[in-house]
Amino acid sequence: MPGAAALNWQRRLLTLCLAGVALASLWWLWHWQYAQSEAEARRHADNRLSLYGSSLQGALERSSYLPGLLAHQAQIQAALLDPTGSLVPQVNDFLALVAERSGAEVIFLLDAEGLTLASSNHAESDSFVGHDYRFRPYFYEAMTTGLGEFFAVGSTTGRPGYFVSAAVGLGDSETPRGVLVAKVSLEALQADWRRAGEKVLLTDANGVVILSSRPEWRYRRLGELTPQAREEIRRQRQFVDAPLEPLGRRLRDGSLLAGETGYGERLIDSTLALETLGWTMHYLVPVRPLYISARNALMAGMAVWLALLLLSLWLRERQKRQRLRDREAAIILEANERLEARVVERTRELQEAQAELVQAGKLAALGTMAAGIAHELNQPLSGIRTYAANGQRLLGRGRPEAANDNFQRIQALCERLGGLIRQLKLFARKGGARKPVDLVARLDFVLELLAERCREQGVQPRRRVSETQAGLWVLGDEMRVEQLLTNLLRNALDALRGLPEPWLEVAIEAKPERLVVTVADNGAGIPEALLEQLFDPFFTTKAVGDGLGLGLFISYGIVQDLGGRIHAGNRLSGGAWFRVELPRAPQTVRPESPPAIRENHDES
Ligand code: ADP
Repeated sequence: MPGAAALNWQRRLLTLCLAGVALASLWWLWHWQYAQSEAEARRHADNRLSLYGSSLQGALERSSYLPGLLAHQAQIQAALLDPTGSLVPQVNDFLALVAERSGAEVIFLLDAEGLTLASSNHAESDSFVGHDYRFRPYFYEAMTTGLGEFFAVGSTTGRPGYFVSAAVGLGDSETPRGVLVAKVSLEALQADWRRAGEKVLLTDANGVVILSSRPEWRYRRLGELTPQAREEIRRQRQFVDAPLEPLGRRLRDGSLLAGETGYGERLIDSTLALETLGWTMHYLVPVRPLYISARNALMAGMAVWLALLLLSLWLRERQKRQRLRDREAAIILEANERLEARVVERTRELQEAQAELVQAGKLAALGTMAAGIAHELNQPLSGIRTYAANGQRLLGRGRPEAANDNFQRIQALCERLGGLIRQLKLFARKGGARKPVDLVARLDFVLELLAERCREQGVQPRRRVSETQAGLWVLGDEMRVEQLLTNLLRNALDALRGLPEPWLEVAIEAKPERLVVTVADNGAGIPEALLEQLFDPFFTTKAVGDGLGLGLFISYGIVQDLGGRIHAGNRLSGGAWFRVELPRAPQTVRPESPPAIRENHDES
């Protein structure tokens, strides 16, 4: 189907778009988290740098004033002017005292040639006294500019330090006579960094690491060294014989790959430029934790997408199942409807067949009836013939009174024949109207008709109705319903004839689908053997002339036509009962008000 193919294609496109969106969002999430972590790391680095920067500056400044101050000391100036060197021991002691008090590692005095004249460590094995430091910038810079500063590994002690110097004897265009130098150790700072577990470096103007929280990084370089710089370092013996290997490789994004092999640790390098000697402080942050945090965010994002995917799959599955259920329900509904339609059709066919059968049964009964009718007609007819001949003869003899008696007999016989014919007419009529009939109203009407006879027989019929009158409607036509009730009541009255304590009860009981009419009496009842034939045509136990044996047969036919049932039986305490079940008229077809009681009634 082209429609289905297009739908499939659309679905695939949508899936692809969603996958694209998911990938893009994950990519963005990774970068965003990485950038966040990096910014946070840089912020932290800047804070630490400013802290460490000021502590370094503080450490340098603590001793930097010393050389300038001491250079003005008369004692020191005098020692430089005294060729005998007699003042040297005194100066040595003085410098030792100042060094101890100020916290400087060494304070020493150089003469104009760069030779150490006096030093605070004069008494120690690695005393500077007598050493030549003319190659050191702190000497020649102080000699030329008056002040000097330098960082170097001590050529005598092998210990690194910051050297700050001032020319001695400067004044009134006089060339300096010597230089006073203070060496400040920065080892304590370095130990602090190490203790804090952070990666902090201090590089000089050439990019050589002069302090580091990791000892193995010291005296390595961050960048390339020009040959001149190398030469200068060598000449100044700044780092003694350190090979100044590279610390790592600078990557394109500015980060540092520590380690020579290229597989080292990648570090983000945050820097702070210091005023002293063009130094730069570096705070290194490993990139790995940043990647881990980005990876975690990525995994969280993937988990969310996975959850969404699973949710959508579950929803789709549920939708599919629902559709399947709906389809099944529709199929079942359709099958049910088909079945119902077939049932309705079959019921209609059956009803038609039943109606046909009833009609056919009636026709079949016609044969039986014909014999009965012939017999029933024959008797009155021969009577009429005899009475008519008698009447004629009596009139001929001039006895009109006697003839009148015969004519009256003829009249009575004609009445009887008329009654028979009325019954037959009623029987022959098939079906009849089917409209709602108020059963209670019809019963009351029939009871009223029979009231006179009841009075004569001393019978007080008991009437029992289970529900309000409004609810008890059947489908049929009034005349036939009345006929049915009349037949049953008249039979009961016949059975009660001559009884001292006659009892008659008519009850209407409402069931959900049907109404049940029971007529019971305390008469002689029906012999068990005759119960079978009770509804046969012309079955009667009554004397000739009293009963035709058609009442129950007709009643049976009426009940059949109305779609009901009729049964008979004997009461335990004596007497008979007749039970008629009739289908109730549906609520919708009942008229607003009960039909008026008819004036005329065809009493048969
Ligand atoms: P008929 O009343 O003309 O005899 P029916 O068909 O009405 O014809 O009744 C048939 C027979 O059923 C009656 O002859 C009678 O024997 C019996 N029967 C009907 N109703 C009762 C009843 N309530 N008690 C006793 N017998 C009855």
